[in-house]
Amino acid sequence: MLKPHCPNCHSKSCDHYASYETQHNGTRKFYRCNQCRQLFSETKGSVLEGFKKPISLIVQVLTARTEGMGLNVTCRVFNLLGFNSPPLAA
Ligand SMILES: [Zn+2]
Repeated sequence: MLKPHCPNCHSKSCDHYASYETQHNGTRKFYRCNQCRQLFSETKGSVLEGFKKPISLIVQVLTARTEGMGLNVTCRVFNLLGFNSPPLAA
């Protein structure tokens, strides 16, 4: 990921503070701002904040879409049924 910015004061002076294990999505990092001392996760304030899917999956999906894969096909290939596609008929 890019060098983090503090979501509170927007300082670029932030250091890695700790890492934590998410329930299903691997390890993520906590940073501490050297200006205001606030702790924040690496996805705080980013477009990825609140996403429950692994960041690696999001990158794969965006790459597939950039390469021209259709939205419905992308949802089926990456098992994202219910995200956009209707359930398959029985
Ligand atoms: Zn700050």
